[in-house]
Amino acid sequence: MNVTRDLFNEVMVPNYNPAAIIPVKGLGSRLWDQAGSEYIDFAGGIAVNVLGHCHPDVVAALKSQGETLWHLSNVLTNEPALRLAKKLTDATFAKKVYFANSGAEANEAALKLARRFALDQFGEQKNQIIAFKQGFHGRTFFTVTVGGQTSYSDGFGPKPGAIEHADYNDLASLETLISDNTCAVMMEPLQGEGGIISPSADFVKGVRALCDKHNALLIFDEVQSGIGRTGDLYAYMGLGVTPDIITTAKALGGGFPIGAMLTTTEIAQHLKIGTHGSTYGGNPLACAVAETVLDIVNTPEVLSGVKHKEQLFRKGIEAINQQYHCFSEIRGKGLLLGAVLSEDFAGRARDFLVASAEEKLMCLVAGANVVRFTPSLIIPDEDIQEGLARFERAVAKVVNS
Ligand SMILES: *Cc1c(COP(=O)(O)O)cnc(C)c1O
Repeated sequence: MNVTRDLFNEVMVPNYNPAAIIPVKGLGSRLWDQAGSEYIDFAGGIAVNVLGHCHPDVVAALKSQGETLWHLSNVLTNEPALRLAKKLTDATFAKKVYFANSGAEANEAALKLARRFALDQFGEQKNQIIAFKQGFHGRTFFTVTVGGQTSYSDGFGPKPGAIEHADYNDLASLETLISDNTCAVMMEPLQGEGGIISPSADFVKGVRALCDKHNALLIFDEVQSGIGRTGDLYAYMGLGVTPDIITTAKALGGGFPIGAMLTTTEIAQHLKIGTHGSTYGGNPLACAVAETVLDIVNTPEVLSGVKHKEQLFRKGIEAINQQYHCFSEIRGKGLLLGAVLSEDFAGRARDFLVASAEEKLMCLVAGANVVRFTPSLIIPDEDIQEGLARFERAVAKVVNS
């Protein structure tokens, strides 16, 4: 069969617009397309491939579990799921884990748990969920409605109710919405899709205090920021605030689909037998892979390496900017970085992405004004340098066009 990009238009639902090339092989932070052209990967499958492509230990875990036991359903438990849950609870504030298959599903579980917790403890009037404008929490109808971009949730009929949005980094805005009828506040501890926006320390502490005052659960969506991305295993660890629930996915499986919701024993007990579930969630194959990813990422070498590599990126992009003056700011933390376009280039992030791909570099955008970099956490320093050299050529192309 002749597999081309044209075949996409013929057989796929048109909700995506993928690049012209089709990668066929990946190793570390490099990709190869059908024609054998080599690319440097600063996108990492949207903050997923934390250990690059085909990391030998992850491949070994996949093969070994694949030859042993793939799937049982939750009628039975399994060893990889229990080991992974133990390691996640040992590494975080949480004591209980619920496994899902994606970020949206982990968030769906967190939101349903928060509603159920509030109903059991305080009654049905306590059902309001507050999230933040520009926030992103997934594409199921509940999570996309909690997300802060109505363009993603409009046009699908009546939305789930009792959901409000405050301004991120604006405590007063949250204060006007929150009340004793608020059951949960959901936020990203570093907004990803919304433009790589870090919260101020005061804001995060203030959100925690308002949640405590009104008996509302604080849910951190760490789907993008978790698993070492910011240089801490989870971003909350670098913010001096402990949430009540965190959700994790993307990098957790290093490319294999898995998500999880983590919480305390007290809160967890409200998801009683039969209240929620998933056929695949916590399947042995996914959990064996994720256990290996967690073992490797949650080490001082990898986590401190993230901080070192962040500096290489920042210095490199700053040097490019000194010459081309197209960025107003480099923001984010660890290897979740955004180069914000200056006014002259407003709205043109996609042009930088397309020019980068022409220079054989994969990067991402976060909205129309931010070029986003979410590479492997163990990307070799030489690949960063070579990727930045390619990025410089792409920038020159856009600026001089
Ligand atoms: C990607 C993302 C999600 C959705 O995850 P899926 O696996 O695509 O369902 C949710 N929240 C955040 C913060 C994300 O970055």
